[in-house]
Amino acid sequence: MSTHRHDWHTFEGYDGGAHHCRKCDRHHQGPTPEAHDCPVSDAEHNAVAWLGQAGLYRTRFDAVRNCEQAVTPVSAAELFQLASKQVATQLKKERKRA
Ligand SMILES: [Zn+2]
Repeated sequence: MSTHRHDWHTFEGYDGGAHHCRKCDRHHQGPTPEAHDCPVSDAEHNAVAWLGQAGLYRTRFDAVRNCEQAVTPVSAAELFQLASKQVATQLKKERKRA
């Protein structure tokens, strides 16, 4: 059981409105449901990349296709940190070579 909230987007409907969760893509008819049972966490929804054993992936689907067992959602800020670490390591290596 997860405790993530759905990110409901409400449309005008015949019966109290129609809701669509932008995170898990679920549809709901009637009053806005209160249940926090969205299978997609905010971190996953906001992920710009996914980190697995073998490296970074653009989408979770790419990671699964590469037989990754467990992938972690990477936010834009985290991706930036990873990238700057990568650049720092690269520069150090090149300085040693020179
Ligand atoms: Zn949802």
